[in-house]
Amino acid sequence: MEYREDHLIQATAADATIRLVAAVTTNLAAEACDRHNTAPTASAALGRTLTGTLLLGRTYKDLEYITVRFDCKGLLGGIVAEASAHGTVRGYVRNPAAHLPPNALGKLDVKGIVGGGMMHVIREAGFEIGLMKEPYYGSTPIVSGEIAEDFAHYLAASEQINSAMSLGVFVEAEQERVTAAGGYLIQTLPGVEESTVAAIEKAVSNAAHVTETIRAGAGAEEMLRLALGDIPFDVLETHPVEFRCKCSYERAVRIVTALGQEEVADMLEKDKGAELTCHFCNSVYYLDEAALQNILEPLEPVVM
Ligand code: ZN
Repeated sequence: MEYREDHLIQATAADATIRLVAAVTTNLAAEACDRHNTAPTASAALGRTLTGTLLLGRTYKDLEYITVRFDCKGLLGGIVAEASAHGTVRGYVRNPAAHLPPNALGKLDVKGIVGGGMMHVIREAGFEIGLMKEPYYGSTPIVSGEIAEDFAHYLAASEQINSAMSLGVFVEAEQERVTAAGGYLIQTLPGVEESTVAAIEKAVSNAAHVTETIRAGAGAEEMLRLALGDIPFDVLETHPVEFRCKCSYERAVRIVTALGQEEVADMLEKDKGAELTCHFCNSVYYLDEAALQNILEPLEPVVM
C-alpha cells in the first residue's frame, strides 16, 4: 500500500488564541516498528509517542531538541522518543515484545502494557545560535497509559497549558504492520474565549478517530478540519517529518575510544573487535581489529 509522505502542519484559530499542530506519521512509525521488530501493542505505544513528541516539540518557539521518556511499570518497561526542530524523530521501547489481547473496546491495550510510572520531558534550546540555555526538565506521573492523555496531562500540570491531544496508530492485523499513524494537538492560549473552548470540545468529541481519518487518505490539514468541525483555522506552515537517527560509524568509534585504553586493549585481545548496537534505530556497528588498533595507536607511540 502506498502512502503520501509524512508531514506536520502548524495552524492557528480564533484570533491566535488556539494553537494547532497535526501530523501524519505513518511511514516514520512503520519504520521505527520495523527496525525494532515490535509486537502490535508495543508498535502502537511507540508510534503514538514518536508522534506526540513531534507535535509537542513544534509548540516551542526556540526548541532545538526534545526528549520524551516514559518510565513504565507495565510490561513495556519504557519508551524513549527524541525529536529535533528539523522534523526528525527517533525512539525505542525497552521491551519490543510487549503485547496483550485487545481491551474491552477491541483496541490494542496500550494502557495495559504501559501501566503506571512517570513521564519525563527534556527540552533543549538555543544551541544552534550559541546561547546554550539550560535544558528544561519536567516530569509528571503517567495518569492514563494511553499516551495522548499523558501528554495533555503533562502540559496542564507541568506547563499550565490546557490542551487536547489525539494520537493513533493502526496496526494491520495479518502482517502486524503499521499502516496508519498520526495525531493532533490543540492548545488554548491566554485570552481564549469560553465559547471557543466549548465549541472545540464539542467538535473533537464528535470527530472520527485519527487512524480512521488517515486510513481514509486524509492529510494533516484534513484531519484538523474533521476534528474542528466548522471552526475555521489558518495553516501557517507545513513541514516534512521523518524517522532519522543521529548514530554513525564515527560516533561508534568515539564511544569505544571513550571507554579508555585499557578497555580497548582488552577488547582487541579477547574479541578482536567490538560490536555496538544503537538503541534508537537498532543499527549495528562493527569495529574490526584494525579500527581498535587505530584507537590505541595515538596512545601508545611505537618506541624505536
Ligand atoms: Zn541509531
